[in-house]
Amino acid sequence: MRVLLTGGAGYIGSHTAAALAERGHEIVILDNFANAERDVPARLERLTGKKIPIIEADIRDVPAVVAALREHPVDAVIHFAALKAVGESEADPLLYYDMNIIGTIRLLQAMQEANVTRIVFSSSATVYGQPDSSPILEDFPTRVENIYGRTKLVMEDLIRDLARTKKLKAAANLRYFNPVGAHPSGQIGETPRGVPNNLMPYVSQVATGERPHLRVFGNDYDTPDGTGVRDYIHVVDLAEAHALALEHIVTNDVSITVNLGTGEGTSVLQLVTAFETATGRTIPIVIAPRRPGDVSSYYANPALAEQTFGWRAKLNVEDMCRDSWRWQASRAGINDI
Ligand code: NAD
Ligand code: UDP
Repeated sequence: MRVLLTGGAGYIGSHTAAALAERGHEIVILDNFANAERDVPARLERLTGKKIPIIEADIRDVPAVVAALREHPVDAVIHFAALKAVGESEADPLLYYDMNIIGTIRLLQAMQEANVTRIVFSSSATVYGQPDSSPILEDFPTRVENIYGRTKLVMEDLIRDLARTKKLKAAANLRYFNPVGAHPSGQIGETPRGVPNNLMPYVSQVATGERPHLRVFGNDYDTPDGTGVRDYIHVVDLAEAHALALEHIVTNDVSITVNLGTGEGTSVLQLVTAFETATGRTIPIVIAPRRPGDVSSYYANPALAEQTFGWRAKLNVEDMCRDSWRWQASRAGINDI
C-alpha cells in the first residue's frame, strides 16, 4: 500500500513510518514541522533505506493537501498531526479547536476531494476521562475532562459519522494508552520541548543529569505502592499496531475503535526501578503532592485489538526504559549503552 502520514515526522508518526516501510508499504509524509526536528526525514531514510517523499504543509491548507494526494495517490491516510498538551489546551482552547478539530475537518475535505476514503486516526485513552475502573474496555463511557480530550472525542465522532454515512469506506480510531520508548536503532525517538510533563522523558533526563531528581506526584493513591499506575506501551509495538489496523480496515473495508495498550499497569516506583535495572543509572526521587487532575490507576483491556487484527504488545517495561535511555543518552552525548 501507499500511505500518507500527517504528522509523520513526529514521535509516533516516525516510528509508524519505519514499521510500515519494514512491512513493504510506501510512505509519504506531510508535516508542518511545528513539533518535529528537521533531520527526522533523513534519519528515517537511513533507517529504512528508502526515499520518503516529504511534503511540508499544514493539514488546514486544503489545496496543499489535495495537491499532495494528487501527486502521490494513496490507499489511506494515517492522521497523527495534532497538538497534544493538556495544559496548553486549557490555556488556549481556540488554538486546539483550530489545529485539531478544524485541521481534521480540512484534512477530511481534502481526502474527499482527492477521493481517498480510508483513514487511521490517533485517538487517546484520554477520551475515557476518569474511568470508574480498570482494565478499560472500548464500550466504557467517554468523558471530557479537558479541551485536548474534547478535541479527540470530536475528531473520533467526525470520523465515525463519515464512516456511518459511507463518505469513508474504512476508519480506525486507535485509543493509545501511554506511549514511551524509542526505536532500538537509536535513530528516532521523542524530543519533548522544555521541561517534560510525562514520566518517562523526565526520568530519562534525570538519568542524563539534566534534572536533579524525579518528583513522584503522590504516594498515597489506592494502588499497591501508593503511586499512580499507567499502561505504558512501547512506541515500536504501537507502530506495529498501526500497520496491522491499517491492513485490516483496508482489506475488509470496516470501521473500528480500539484500545492500544499492554493491559499491564505499572506504578511510578515500578517504572523507576525498571529504569534503574535496565540502564544501571540511579534515579533520585522526591515525594511530592499529587498532580491535579491525575487518576490513580488507568490501564487497558487490549483484547479487542488482538481479536480484530491479531495485535498484542510484545515489549515490556524494561525494553521501554532501555530504548528510551539509549535515545536520551545519545541526545545528551552519553555513550554507555
Ligand atoms: P508529535 O507532536 O511528536 O507529532 C505530531 C506531528 O504533527 C509533529 O511532527 C508536528 O510537527 C505535526 N503537526 C502538528 N500540527 C500540524 C498541522 N496543523 N499540520 C501538519 N503537521 C502538524 O506527537 P505524537 O506524540 O507523535 O502524537 C501523535 C498523535 O498521537 C497526536 O494526534 C496525539 O494527540 C496522539 N496521541 C499521543 C500520545 C502521546 O502520549 N504521545 C497519546 C495519545 C494520543
Ligand atoms: N508522574 C510523576 N512525576 C513526573 C511526571 C509524572 O510522578 O514528573 C506520574 C504521574 O503522576 C502519573 C504517571 O507518572 O501517575 C504518568 O504520568 P504521565 O504524565 O507520563 O502520563 P498521564 O498521567 O498523562 O497518563
